[in-house]
Amino acid sequence: MMSRACPQLISLSKKQFAAGFSTCQRMYQKYNEPLSGHEMPRAGGIASMMRLPVQNNTEGLDACFVGVPLDIGTSNRSGTRHGPRQIRCESSLIRKVNIATGACPFDSMQVADVGDVNLNLYNLPKACEDIRKHFLGLVQAGCVPLALGGDHTMTYPILQAIKEKHGPVGLVHIDAHADTNDKMLGESIAHGTPFRRAFEEGCLVGNKVIQIGLRGSNYTLDDYEWGKKQGFRIVEAFECWHKSLSPLMEEVRVMMGDHPVYISFDIDGLDPCFAPGTGTPEIGGLTSIQGLEIVRGCRGLNIVGGDLVEVSPPYDFQGTTALTAANLLFEMLCVLPKVKYGLR
Ligand code: MN
Ligand code: MN
Repeated sequence: MMSRACPQLISLSKKQFAAGFSTCQRMYQKYNEPLSGHEMPRAGGIASMMRLPVQNNTEGLDACFVGVPLDIGTSNRSGTRHGPRQIRCESSLIRKVNIATGACPFDSMQVADVGDVNLNLYNLPKACEDIRKHFLGLVQAGCVPLALGGDHTMTYPILQAIKEKHGPVGLVHIDAHADTNDKMLGESIAHGTPFRRAFEEGCLVGNKVIQIGLRGSNYTLDDYEWGKKQGFRIVEAFECWHKSLSPLMEEVRVMMGDHPVYISFDIDGLDPCFAPGTGTPEIGGLTSIQGLEIVRGCRGLNIVGGDLVEVSPPYDFQGTTALTAANLLFEMLCVLPKVKYGLR
């Protein structure tokens, strides 16, 4: 198993090697890389995101993966507190280059898994404050956070932190739901209200918000009107049926210009046949391929952060949902502004 390229490793104990850290690469290379399946069996090593090194601070990092084990903001099925761990587990197959797009994110960026937000699981407003503070630390250090959710409530405190660093941002929001309710069961903080709260607090630029994939039954016919009044562009799921979303993303790039943009991907934006493991599934959703087109279409945008939310492992019987989520997070990493693209 010892790699011929890394004779120094002979001096490492088996225990060190089994720890799963990519020591071999760190001896030779400037940037972290996912631990290769040729160095350590994919079922082995520490279950970090993409088998990247784990560190508990942002020192030297351009981007990081961070978990938010939250599900007390959910309204139907719960279980998203287990999302980050399962996404990390299913990410073990993802390799370092994106052969379809040519992106080589580990050639020009220092990336690590910085672990999870330690949050209050018994008090949602307090949990939000824990998340806001944690993300403020990440973004103040100049690190672009890519968050593993967790229910969608978390995007509200993340956007508060992002605003403090970057001001109001544009938003690419993929979801079956607008998440712009004013109240849920009388509460102003829940997984169906984050974008209403974020807009009210000046975290979003109204005419640079696009919500893609909205659908499902509702309480009134004007459920999307509040967002439209603020300038949000709504693209309902039926408008996406049977077509490529790449032309839409050309429009999004014009809409955003070089303004800072946040990507929030609720896995229930995809159809339940692709992503069944989620709390509020709605039929007639986007395909995995359309999800890829959206994220890949964000290349060239000034992306300052992103999240993948609402993966609920107890309902994810085949692991497909977490696998898809892990890959979409990798695709987000691949479109960050610092990423170099190789030629094929
Ligand atoms: Mn949502
Ligand atoms: Mn949703």
